[in-house]
Amino acid sequence: MMRYEFLSLKTTTAPYRDALKRAACEVIESGWFVNGEKVKAFEEALANLCKCRYAVGVSNGLDALRLILRAYNELGVMTDGDEVIVPANTYIATVLAITDSGLKPVLVEPDVRTMNLDTALIERHITPRTKAVMTVHLYGLPCYDATLERVAREHSLLVIEDNAQAIGACTPFGMTGGLGNAAGNSFYPTKNLGAVGDAGAVTTNDEALAKVVRELANYGCDRRYHNLRQGLNCRLDEIQAAMLLVAMQHLESINKHRQQLASIYDNEIVNPLIIKPLFNEGATYHQYALRVESRDAFRQYLADNGVGSDVLYPTPIHRQPCYAEQLGKHSYPLTEKICNTVVSIPCASHISITDAHAIAAIINRYKQ
Ligand SMILES: *Cc1c(COP(=O)(O)O)cnc(C)c1O
Repeated sequence: MMRYEFLSLKTTTAPYRDALKRAACEVIESGWFVNGEKVKAFEEALANLCKCRYAVGVSNGLDALRLILRAYNELGVMTDGDEVIVPANTYIATVLAITDSGLKPVLVEPDVRTMNLDTALIERHITPRTKAVMTVHLYGLPCYDATLERVAREHSLLVIEDNAQAIGACTPFGMTGGLGNAAGNSFYPTKNLGAVGDAGAVTTNDEALAKVVRELANYGCDRRYHNLRQGLNCRLDEIQAAMLLVAMQHLESINKHRQQLASIYDNEIVNPLIIKPLFNEGATYHQYALRVESRDAFRQYLADNGVGSDVLYPTPIHRQPCYAEQLGKHSYPLTEKICNTVVSIPCASHISITDAHAIAAIINRYKQ
């Protein structure tokens, strides 16, 4: 029986493994490990990719989001207890960043078809304390539209993108990571653009914000041994920047391949028990996330047929122990429905076009 792993980083990185090794050696031999040329070069390349003016390399995606919110606090734009609207079915890191900054997450239900924030619901959640909408391009499908843009403008809200899953995604409004006021990016190894460890970045067109984020990520220094702010240590290091410069050369083909796989799944999966995600040519398909009522049985069937799968995410944030008190009183039926039925199938460069046809055929043979 053929086996289709859910993900294999060993296989996906194979085409550039030697280049990664050479780049790592180069950094080691240079003797310069933090705040150097590699980070600078990566920041430039990333700003180019997102078509925005500034990119600041940081330690990971969660820190990128935390630093954006802290920087807005430093700039006097947000203060303790201000509210941030965020989709209820996002990854927990989005909400951790909000609460870590002393802000109040206001969870809003997704649209079940896109599984992204339902932008039509934003307005009714706005209060005098609402300062921002954190839009999440979940599974790589951009979440940005004219409604979001209008509501943000009319209510003077910041738009912050959680671009962890959508690096390289195109929308009619521009590239993700450059759509709103600022974006947090993650280069965790399983993301479409992955480092060889943890890494992240803030992208923005806001010069003041970029400057404060850079200071906060480096102990709050605006110059050496001069601490303007009570900062953190959230820097990106040279080795990871060097890895990312190599991986970035493959991002376009990585995303294209995922789009091809998604298009095969979209055309060929016709099983009435399966709900497919909305097809979008500009998406990065960080996940190809189906919905199935009988999820456990379906996953067992896939496993029996050699197909790996995963669930992102099985437990909604308001049901997590750490948020039970703060957010657990509300009910989010659409979010719960998605969490109970969603299942990701293999959709990365370790899966060939032939594999995708075969996986679609296996899924079509599933019976309850
Ligand atoms: C991965 C991810 C993050 C966090 O990024 P890390 O680099 O793992 O800290 C945040 N939001 C979303 C949607 C993610 O997928």
